[in-house]
Amino acid sequence: MTATPSAIRPDFLSNPEKLHFIDGQWQPSLTGESLQTFNPATGKVLATVARGRQQDVDVAVAAARRAFEGSWSRFTPHERYALMLRVCDVIERNFDELALLDTLDMGAPLSRTKAMKDGLIKTIMYFASQAMSWSGSTIPNSLSGNYTTLTLKAPVGVIGGITPWNAPLISMWWIMGGALATGCTAVIKPAEDASLTTLRTAELLVEAGVPAGVINVVTGYGNEAGAALAAHMGVDRIAFTGSTVTGREIIKASAGNMKRIQLELGGKSPDIVFADANLDKAVPGAAMGVYNNSGQICSAGTRIFVQRSIQEEFVSRLVDFTKSIKTGDPFEPGVQLGPLVSKRQLDRVMSYMSIGVEDGARMAIGGNRLEGELAEGYFVAPTVFDSVRNDMRIAREEIFGPVASVIPFDTAEEALRLANDTEYGLGGAVWTTNVSTMSKMIHGIKAGKLWVNCYGLADAAVGFSGYKQSGYGIKGGAQHVEGFLYEKSVCINGD
Ligand code: NAD
Repeated sequence: MTATPSAIRPDFLSNPEKLHFIDGQWQPSLTGESLQTFNPATGKVLATVARGRQQDVDVAVAAARRAFEGSWSRFTPHERYALMLRVCDVIERNFDELALLDTLDMGAPLSRTKAMKDGLIKTIMYFASQAMSWSGSTIPNSLSGNYTTLTLKAPVGVIGGITPWNAPLISMWWIMGGALATGCTAVIKPAEDASLTTLRTAELLVEAGVPAGVINVVTGYGNEAGAALAAHMGVDRIAFTGSTVTGREIIKASAGNMKRIQLELGGKSPDIVFADANLDKAVPGAAMGVYNNSGQICSAGTRIFVQRSIQEEFVSRLVDFTKSIKTGDPFEPGVQLGPLVSKRQLDRVMSYMSIGVEDGARMAIGGNRLEGELAEGYFVAPTVFDSVRNDMRIAREEIFGPVASVIPFDTAEEALRLANDTEYGLGGAVWTTNVSTMSKMIHGIKAGKLWVNCYGLADAAVGFSGYKQSGYGIKGGAQHVEGFLYEKSVCINGD
């Protein structure tokens, strides 16, 4: 087991007692409390982070408010744009350290976290471009008299960002990118299982010239620091990615001062494979649509609907592909899947192995923890359940592990009905060579992100919103940035 060899431990961890990052300074919790974060590949403590509570959130929100009202409010669009380009440069130069931190803290293979560089840099560049792009408009009106009507945009103020552990490196940028592009400020509460990348990024932003207090990080538990942020009367907008259960709590907590909210929540996304699909692409594509990041992706295509005439062949090829996947030490070259993030997540995923079998699904491969050298880590073998019914718990509940459910169907109409028979609507895909089938599916699937003959690709310039209980508010694209802005209408009497 080569995880966390001392030679590649980043400098940031040479002091493993991490504090909050507030107003450009490292600050301990006012109670002095901390919590431990673990390396999921070894089960060993990696670092401690400050355990934030209400009073720490109060301090961070006050710092964010001061920054919002202060010099940051006088930055011109071009100054914010130029600053974001400098930020991009600093992140690019320090990217390897950030990728290492993510791998150590949440377990994704280093090959995966390093491969995120291109997407991350393009995301920051996209938001930088938006700093120069948003504007109001002049609108012809039908008023009687000499009136000019126009709209102005203005930053909403202090953003509360609550992020998950499954992709810390990129999750925080959906918040920071929007905040920096619009002149908002933010307090970010990263997930307690993986806070390190967010803390280091906040420090790097100050090095790049972002004024102190613009981006603050309070670490801690969701029901303490997270709940305090969601309810805080000094926070104007909440951006949240995580579970649907927590999303509901955030909606309730935010009611006090009518916060704007953007939520990206859970999913149980359908991945539909028709008999005419190119199986050389569909099998690995659908498999990695579930297994990537060890299944810890909100839009993972966990329900693989397969046309009955190819079910046997598809499952046999899926099992063969699954056998070829290398799961293990995230630092080992060639490893495709690392551990799950935590013991809690491991227990949750393993519980679904027995639930699937008890409900009558056939386990075609997997279902076990990895043994030997990896036994101390939270490793689960990629798993295929075959002959799953859409009403089974493994097809209805978000497992958040490398567990695929193959569900047979006969007609396109049946595939659509089953695909949409879920409380979620985050992602979905179709594999077909027939353009009419493709068209029927992309119009019919009730989900925010759709893929045709591919799975999981994303670009910051392309917006989506979850259907049903997968959340609300547009994420990505110019409308994402609009979410950080108020719109004012102005009527000018020209007489
Ligand atoms: P979670 O929703 O509990 O946590 C996400 C974030 O919300 C974390 O920062 C957490 O500290 C915070 N949080 C928790 N309770 C809160 C509260 N009451 N008020 C404010 N913030 C709170 O998710 P999790 O525990 O990390 O994972 C549980 C399940 O959520 C997973 O098994 C998976 O199904 C789902 N999940 C979805 C996504 C996604 O991208 N949609 C990401 C992570 C987890």
